Amino acid sequence: KWKKINVQNRSHDELYEMEKTFNEMIDYLKDNFERQETFVSDASHELRTPISIVKSYGELLKRQGKDNHDLFNESVEAIDTEVERMQKLVEQMLTLAKNKTTDVIQVVDLIALSEHTITTFRGAYARKISVDNHGDSLLVNGNKDQLQQIIYILIDNAIKYSSDEIRISIAQQKNKAIMKVTDFGQGISKIDHARIFDRFYRIDKARSRDTGGTGLGLAIAKSIAETHHGDLCVTSKLGEGSTFTLSLPIVRES
Ligand code: ADP
Repeated sequence: KWKKINVQNRSHDELYEMEKTFNEMIDYLKDNFERQETFVSDASHELRTPISIVKSYGELLKRQGKDNHDLFNESVEAIDTEVERMQKLVEQMLTLAKNKTTDVIQVVDLIALSEHTITTFRGAYARKISVDNHGDSLLVNGNKDQLQQIIYILIDNAIKYSSDEIRISIAQQKNKAIMKVTDFGQGISKIDHARIFDRFYRIDKARSRDTGGTGLGLAIAKSIAETHHGDLCVTSKLGEGSTFTLSLPIVRES
């Protein structure tokens, strides 16, 4: 909370402290403005590609679509894919913009939520996803949909960027719930460990695009973790696989 201040009759030390606070506030605002600016320009850039693809296929359809059945089918298919991509991008951007305060807060069992989320994948992918949990339940405070979104993003990425089994472990460490999602896929080089949580950052843009990636998944997951007073980080070795670790404060027993 910021409040108005009066500088009259202040001692030298007090004025010095105020100057420090004031400069910190300016830096904070500058950083935020710069982040917003980057976000808007990155978002426009990301939307530009699908828009121009839709536009050129539309023009092609107008010119030759009536006579060329194959071209007609190809164009409709491409337009459909790109519109879906734009839809996903816009939805994800809204999620990022909205995720300032968590909506409905309730007691959530992380083990049950993970098991439920995994079932949404098991049917679609004949891939082994194993869950190792110690205990029947592990309770955290939070918004169920948002927490599920983190789990979904981590499993979805593990599926996209690896081809072997995926291991999930959930355990309590002191007053924290720790969830690890491990894959044995392509891994991430050290230089990219921090960057992959940046908005729109993708190590391999073309591959990510092919798998429907937007580069926003991990930014969303990290932002949700932080609004829940938790954290999301990665350990990984190129060519060996990655482990994403989500930590959240557990519900304190009263
Ligand atoms: P995307 O939609 O591209 O998957 P994310 O924000 O979820 O975006 O991830 C950012 C980038 O981090 C991905 O494009 C990919 O390069 C890398 N990445 C994410 N998860 C993994 C993983 N499990 N293994 C290897 N690379 C990953």
